[in-house]
Amino acid sequence: MTLTRFQSLTRGAADAPAVHLVTFGCQMNKYDSLLVEGRFARKGYRVTAELSEADVVLFNTCSVRDHAEERVYSWVGELKRAKEENPELVIGVMGCMAQRSGDDIFRRAGHVDLVCGTRQLQHLPEMVEELYELRRESRSRPPRVSALSLDDDVAVERAGEPYTGGRAGFLVAMRGCDLSCTFCVVPRTRGRVLSRPIADLVREARWMVAGGARAITLLGQTLNSYGEDLPVPAAGEPALRGRRGRPSLADLLYALEEVEGLARVRLITLHPAYVTRALAEALRDCSKVERFLPLPAQSGSDDVLRRMKRGYTTDLYRGRVDLLRGIVPDLELGSDWIVGFPGESDADFEATLAFAGEVGFSQGYVFKYDPRPDTAAELFQDDVPVEVKQERNQRLLRRVEEVALGRMEAWLGREVEALVDEPSPRRAGVVVGRTRHGLPVSLAGGAELLGREVRVAVDHATAFGLAGRQVIEAAALTGQ
Ligand code: SF4
Repeated sequence: MTLTRFQSLTRGAADAPAVHLVTFGCQMNKYDSLLVEGRFARKGYRVTAELSEADVVLFNTCSVRDHAEERVYSWVGELKRAKEENPELVIGVMGCMAQRSGDDIFRRAGHVDLVCGTRQLQHLPEMVEELYELRRESRSRPPRVSALSLDDDVAVERAGEPYTGGRAGFLVAMRGCDLSCTFCVVPRTRGRVLSRPIADLVREARWMVAGGARAITLLGQTLNSYGEDLPVPAAGEPALRGRRGRPSLADLLYALEEVEGLARVRLITLHPAYVTRALAEALRDCSKVERFLPLPAQSGSDDVLRRMKRGYTTDLYRGRVDLLRGIVPDLELGSDWIVGFPGESDADFEATLAFAGEVGFSQGYVFKYDPRPDTAAELFQDDVPVEVKQERNQRLLRRVEEVALGRMEAWLGREVEALVDEPSPRRAGVVVGRTRHGLPVSLAGGAELLGREVRVAVDHATAFGLAGRQVIEAAALTGQ
């Protein structure tokens, strides 16, 4: 007897249908994959780490580079054989590549059954059910299901689900982006800004802490524009810290500061144009918020910034950094950089090198410009030769590391407070965490230190982080 899918759902956990997710790309994809696993678990599925065991295989994809999309097609290609052997297998593609390519994915990979965009992923279990029903109705040709609308809100209630995000978890505060940088595909793949209400985020943060999270990283494309799309609290509704007006990132930080058991709040990623005094004051006042801001500059040339449509000049950027450091003098900054953008001259590049040194970043990622379909810059002539891009990439990387090393070395001989996140992925007997300034720090130790805040005497620094030994408080030594 062939069981309908619903019948098998109600059978025991052991042979409950199994779902497996393969996640590519950014932290937001990592958050979304856990959210999707939670949706399936609610429907009686079990989440398996073994692709070979799965009844449903989903690829959560990235579109930021051509290479990222090609990797997905090669993974999907590998499953062609498995699908021939088991026609019941469901193969789905979700995330940014699904949003950008849509039904083209079916044309390129005929054994894919399901395509789900970035604002539809909460509906995936129902989409799989719909596919099973369609299969039952038509045995002639394999049905397909896709959902690509960018109008829906993805926010779902997580209470009742097991939290599986670990000691250092991610929390999506807002989705989408209202800007239109000419090199970027995100507005196309993730839609307009959609901020989640502070109350929902505080509730989810409490759920994460109850499940073992000690640090929460708030996620958004332009996190400091948080709340710009939210309504002004109506008359009679409690004002935000005595202030009428739309909620802001600062309000969210003050609210998370009240979450018991939460040790650290981290932020990814911000935009210079949205930096405000209120944000700087929240960084000063909220002891749980790490004093590190990823504030991508992308270039140090105003001509290049104009062609990138970044929405600021180097002077505006400097002014915002001065505002931040005027209120939080020990603030650390990180930046992303693009070299070889169309039209970038030697002088533009020299300006970028100088700007990276002038502002002083303790972290930096450098990328060679790569034209992306569905972006405005796709139409620009990609006129910087590959070897020049390569050479500029190396020179800027060296500069960024030089500057970062200088900022890290400033901590040598000092004691820092580190939240220990996890065992070192590379060295046994070593754990890694972050200082109150968001700097990576490693020290000798084992599971007993995980999730704890410890004092570390810094005795080593590289461009990528600090290392030291734990300072055992006198009190702990005497057992007081
Ligand atoms: S701010 Fe620019 S680079 Fe960042 S997500 Fe928006 S469009 Fe892309």
